[in-house]
Amino acid sequence: MINTVNFNIKSNILVFDDGGMTHSNPDGTGFKIDIKVYDRMLLLAKKNDIKIQIACNAVFFDVDNIAGLNLLNPECDKILKLFDDNRSYIEIWNHGLNHRYKNECIEFFSYKDGPISYDYQKEHLKLSQDIFKKNNILPTVFVPPGHAWEQNVTDKIAKEQGITAIAIREFEKTSFKAWIKNPGKPYKMTWEKSQSINTFFRLGLGIAFDRVHFDKKVKYKMSNYVANRFPQSLLINRKLRLKYPVDHFFAHIQNLQDPNSVDYFDDVIKQIKGLKNKE
Ligand SMILES: [Zn+2]
Repeated sequence: MINTVNFNIKSNILVFDDGGMTHSNPDGTGFKIDIKVYDRMLLLAKKNDIKIQIACNAVFFDVDNIAGLNLLNPECDKILKLFDDNRSYIEIWNHGLNHRYKNECIEFFSYKDGPISYDYQKEHLKLSQDIFKKNNILPTVFVPPGHAWEQNVTDKIAKEQGITAIAIREFEKTSFKAWIKNPGKPYKMTWEKSQSINTFFRLGLGIAFDRVHFDKKVKYKMSNYVANRFPQSLLINRKLRLKYPVDHFFAHIQNLQDPNSVDYFDDVIKQIKGLKNKE
């Protein structure tokens, strides 16, 4: 059996991105996110006796509007209280300020235009950490929105803002269509581990960020993603072997919109916990 992925799953198991958002898309479009997603996350952590990390976008917690974007989540007090009351089960990570740059759902590197200015990146990272601090939260892990970041720039700025680790992917895939047309170019971007801070490599579960219902087919796909066995792993990762061990899997708070999602993610957590490094 070809060993495609090395797992190093210890303290982080499953991380939910997009914490704080009011709607399924960062620009306020899509469905309204039910505040119960946070109760579901907490329930999952308690059921499995684990800590669940949630990567939050600071602007939705910007009570004093220091970023001047007026995007406060009206339910932010309730969400912050749940976080504060359950610090042994929920850990807050930084997922940027507003998850946006022009028309893209990224903030620190553009898949269309390339690098984003140093000043823009610094302002967004500083504002995000300042907003979290005002709410008595001190995130030490940073998840770049859209997994897009500039090596040796974004990570250095993050370090200056009190971040000690960056949670990233090894690659961002091109579309399946583009890959088939040009098999030598499977990725839009690839990244190495950071030279300045710790790096947590992550994998997705093969589900869209805004998927709400989980049928048998999706469950089957998810087990393939988690097990990462050849030959599915080749389709999933587009290479035989990942360079770095994987620290955790990620999903999105949008995926917890429906009450039935709890059973699905309970299953996911149990499968991830069952992974052992096969080296
Ligand atoms: Zn995100």
